[in-house]
Amino acid sequence: MRRLPVFFVLDCSESMVGDSLQKMEDGLQAIVRALRTDPHALETVYISVIAFAGVAKTIAPLVELVSFYPPKLPLGGGTSLGVALEALMAELDSSVVKTTPDRKGDWKPIVYLFTDGRPTDNPNAAIDRWNAKYAKKATLIAVGLGQSVDFETLGRLTDNAMMFEDTQEGDFKKFINWVTASVVAQSKSVGESDAQSLANIDASLMRIFKNPPSKQADEACITLVGRCQKTRKPYLMKYDRAIRDVATRDFKLQVSHFEIAGCYPLEEDYFIWSDPRAMDLKVNSADLIGTPGCPHCGNFTAFAACGCGKLMCINGPEEGFCPWCKKLVSFSCSGDEDGFDVGRGRG
Ligand SMILES: [Zn+2]
Ligand SMILES: [Zn+2]
Repeated sequence: MRRLPVFFVLDCSESMVGDSLQKMEDGLQAIVRALRTDPHALETVYISVIAFAGVAKTIAPLVELVSFYPPKLPLGGGTSLGVALEALMAELDSSVVKTTPDRKGDWKPIVYLFTDGRPTDNPNAAIDRWNAKYAKKATLIAVGLGQSVDFETLGRLTDNAMMFEDTQEGDFKKFINWVTASVVAQSKSVGESDAQSLANIDASLMRIFKNPPSKQADEACITLVGRCQKTRKPYLMKYDRAIRDVATRDFKLQVSHFEIAGCYPLEEDYFIWSDPRAMDLKVNSADLIGTPGCPHCGNFTAFAACGCGKLMCINGPEEGFCPWCKKLVSFSCSGDEDGFDVGRGRG
C-alpha cells in the first residue's frame, strides 16, 4: 500500500502560550480522530509533526494513522521559519519513500505549516532551496493564524497561503473540519492523478492569500520571561495589544498599549526551544498594563526586575535572591512612573 505522508509543521513560539497552543494540540487530536473514521484516510495517511520556535525538531516521526499519538507541544522563544523549513526538508528526504523503476514510492506528501507571527531568523536561503528542490515534490499549505502573520514571506513559499481568523464561536471547529476534509479529499484523489485538490474553503473563515492584508499588523502581543524566586521555575507573562481612544478637549488620538493576558508556568525545556537572539528586544514597562502574580508560588507580583536585567517574583518590599544571577536584591516601593526597560521575546 502506498502511503500518503502528511506533515504538520507547527509554530510553538511564545506568542502561542496558553489558549492558542492548547487549541493547536486539541485541533491535532480532533483531526486525527476524524481521519480515523474515514476508510480511505485510514488506509493511506501517515502523520508526522515538526515543532518550531527558536529551534525546530521532529516531535512525532512519520507513522500510520492508527498508531499516531498526538504529542505534547513544546514552547520556546523565537519564530525560526528558516530553521523549520530546513528540518522539514531533511524529514522529507529521510522519511518519504521515493519511486524507483522497480518500486512505487509514497504519494506526494502534504505539509500544513501553521504560524502566528513573523520569522525571527532570515528564512530566504531556506525558501529558495524549498522552491528550487521541494516545491514540486510536496503540497505545502501555509496557514497564518491571526493578524501578525508575515504573509509576504508565506506567499513566497507557496500559492496555498491562507489566513485563519478565529473571530466567532465555532470558527476553530470549522477550521479543523476543513483541514480534515482537505486531507480526506487528497487521500481519495491519490491514484487518480498527482494533482491534489484542496477541499473547498469556507470563504467566511479562510481568506486565500490572493488578497493579502495590505499591511502587516503591528505585533499583537509582548511576552516576557521571568523566574520564580522560591522555586526558580520559569514563567511567561503575555501582554496583548489594546487600542484605546484618548480624547481631550482639543484633539483625539488612539493610543496603543499592552494589557496583561496571563502568566503561565513554563517548562525548563523552554530555553532549549528558544533562540537567544530573539530575546534581545527591549520594551518599556510603562507600556504594559497589569501585573500578574507568580504562577508557581503565588507571590504578589511576577514583575520585579533585578539589576541583572531579568525578571523574578516578589511578594512586596523585601529582600530576596535573584533566581537568575543569584545575587541578593532588595526591593523598595518606588512609584517609578517612567517604568524600566526589560528584555522581551519576539515569538
Ligand atoms: Zn514565585
Ligand atoms: Zn539578577
